[in-house]
Amino acid sequence: NNSDLYCIGCGAKLQTTDPNAAGYLPESSLAKAQSGESELYCQRCFRLRHYNEIQPVGLTDDDFLRLLNLLGQADALIVNVVDIFDFNGSLIPGLHRFVGDNPVLLVGNKADVLPKSLRRAKLRDWLSHQANANGLHPVETVLMSAKNQSDIESLMHTIEKYRNGRDVYFVGVTNTGKSTLINGILKQTAGVSDLITTSRFPGTTLDRIRLEMSDGSGLIDTPGIIHRNQMAHYLDAKDLRLVSPSKVIRPKTYQLNDEQTLFLAGLARFDYLRGPRAGFTVYADNQLMIHRTKLETADDFYDRQKGDLLQPPRQGDEFPDLARVEFTPKVDSDIVFAGLGWIKVPAGAVVAAYAPEGVDVVMRPAMI
Ligand code: GDP
Repeated sequence: NNSDLYCIGCGAKLQTTDPNAAGYLPESSLAKAQSGESELYCQRCFRLRHYNEIQPVGLTDDDFLRLLNLLGQADALIVNVVDIFDFNGSLIPGLHRFVGDNPVLLVGNKADVLPKSLRRAKLRDWLSHQANANGLHPVETVLMSAKNQSDIESLMHTIEKYRNGRDVYFVGVTNTGKSTLINGILKQTAGVSDLITTSRFPGTTLDRIRLEMSDGSGLIDTPGIIHRNQMAHYLDAKDLRLVSPSKVIRPKTYQLNDEQTLFLAGLARFDYLRGPRAGFTVYADNQLMIHRTKLETADDFYDRQKGDLLQPPRQGDEFPDLARVEFTPKVDSDIVFAGLGWIKVPAGAVVAAYAPEGVDVVMRPAMI
């Protein structure tokens, strides 16, 4: 009887009948796990941990809605984890409506990839402002790196400050580092490391996981909400590191004349249409290939070099056409290619930005 066994990697209920559904485990592996010979991982998490491969599993929008509704019914502290490298892409639309009266602690994760020159206090203010603009009013905003144990420790103190004996729910879009954070907390509290599966593949945490705290209240990890228009969905496993930078980003500034174009590999494009010669700074993974060309020849260049010089996408990859949006910022602004990075643009410049159809391109007041 396996009716009450759950995968310790992703939290899905274990089952031995449908290899394509969440929580699948072959009968024989289940027997081993039950006899204590091996740990209770579903096949998917097992493979992910050992071979870094992924199998797609269907999780419906209804599941997510149900999860979000649960937040409003609970009496809890909601910890919303966002990726500061992909802030716009990691907001949960309408979260403020779902949380009810529960306080929200906003956690900006992956602070370690931002340039050291960046003033942390300024960035935190920026983060709060952006949250407010989206209707979310956190009790506090924290900047941290889930890879840093002392950051985890101070987060735990902040959580204690606001939770008042209540449960704590962790929510976030996939790939924000929520599992890494929970693992860090586990390590801190129980000395168990890497119990929950973490990976770069969007959508690997499937079901709720409840960790008991000393006073009996729970620390609850929820499934990462999948943003369909994350750039990650269009990248091969080998190229995912481009949207999950692991090293400090070195900004690259280009002095551009009008009618010049920058390609961010074959994934995105930026045209400087009108304005005086000026500096444009690209914030993206250090390995992302950037190519400058004339606007005049850019269309043709893209058609010929996509998948070749402009890689990724790789040859033969299914990749949508790039969609174009025009901007004229009134103040110094970032043009954000959701998940990939951003380009800082001076006030008054007339520019066009391109990303795959469905991936957001937005303008925001400059972060740096
Ligand atoms: P989840 O889908 O939100 O649970 O995200 P994961 O915990 O699986 O992390 C997604 C990716 O981000 C993985 O490649 C992690 O190694 C990486 N990651 C998580 N936290 C951090 C962090 O604080 N800094 C950096 N640089 N990468 C992180």
